[in-house]
Amino acid sequence: MNLSIGNCVKLKSGGPTMTITARTQSITTTWLDCQWFEGTLLKTQSFPEPTLKIASPQLTHLPLYNADPNCNHNTIPAPGGGIKCTKCKGWFCY
Ligand SMILES: [Zn+2]
Repeated sequence: MNLSIGNCVKLKSGGPTMTITARTQSITTTWLDCQWFEGTLLKTQSFPEPTLKIASPQLTHLPLYNADPNCNHNTIPAPGGGIKCTKCKGWFCY
């Protein structure tokens, strides 16, 4: 899988949802800088790309951006991370 800057990701082992802020290519590994909040504290850490996966949160209770307010949303994981509605244009990424 090719992860990009701005994607919402998680470690395959679990943990918080993080946002990719930079890519660094070494000879053997692609390192991705990730940022996330621990409470109000912004954390930054680099991880090898193979240890990360796109986050697909189940956030059906959250309001979607750009959504039709009358839509009974059917949310699925969005390609770039986060979720989107298959019936209207609603989406959410955190
Ligand atoms: Zn919808």
